Amino acid sequence: MTKEKIQIALVTGSSRGIGKAVAQALANNKYLVYINYMSDRQAADKTLDEIRTNGGQARLLQFDVTDTASCENAVKEIITENKKIDVLVNNAGIRNDRLLAMMKKDAWQQIIDTNLNSFFNMTKPVVKQMLKNRYGRIINMASTAGQIGNAGQVNYCASKAGLIGATKALAREIANRNITVNAVSPGFIETQMTENIDIDEIVKSIPAGRLGKPEEVAAAIVFLCSNDASYINGQVIGVNGGII
Ligand code: NDP
Repeated sequence: MTKEKIQIALVTGSSRGIGKAVAQALANNKYLVYINYMSDRQAADKTLDEIRTNGGQARLLQFDVTDTASCENAVKEIITENKKIDVLVNNAGIRNDRLLAMMKKDAWQQIIDTNLNSFFNMTKPVVKQMLKNRYGRIINMASTAGQIGNAGQVNYCASKAGLIGATKALAREIANRNITVNAVSPGFIETQMTENIDIDEIVKSIPAGRLGKPEEVAAAIVFLCSNDASYINGQVIGVNGGII
């Protein structure tokens, strides 16, 4: 395959968890995947090795999605190397739960910066290039929590609901340039993020009777990136075992 024909994807927060599964699935579908991580180099190296062992193509890009200049530089680097970015998956996200009455401003700000302001930091430079290229797929990692609300997660729910609004508005801005902007909204997925929750209690609320797997979220994203999904725009695709 020539360099021009390879599809280029950037997945933020893809050293582990859902992002890792997305990076692997896109690499399996012949994308050259840029794996972003912030601090866990070992996990990122492992993801890179696994993709290469499977015959896929990937590169590591360390940066903090809350840092606007670093995000712009990362996008520049990819465009310099490949002249384009076809797919952006805004996946990096964290939680810092507390009832609002006890929540410190820092915990609010940290979640909004990481989960929502990162959307602006990443998407603005990528969109400029996609508009020129007249092609693109942007997928934002929302959450069921952002659709129905969770007590103890006012900051997290606000950030994810904000992402859904941004998804719908941006889709309207750029749909006529052959660019789709969608959100994938997982329920409870088995990752480090859900390690400390009371699984038995949570499972009672999930019609499927189990947590989801990162690969099940990744499959929805691969579909949204495909040509078959070219008329799906501004949507929120739930991957939640029937919770909502
Ligand atoms: P994990 O905690 O397993 O992974 C988080 C990833 O994000 C890691 O790769 C981490 O890299 C990276 N990351 C965190 N902060 C930053 C940052 N500032 N800059 C760059 N990378 C960063 O989380 P999940 O895989 O569970 O979650 C992925 C996404 O899915 C999140 O947006 C989350 O909100 C969402 N989601 C998850 C659900 C679940 O049940 N697991 C449900 C609904 C939504 P490093 O370790 O190097 O910092």
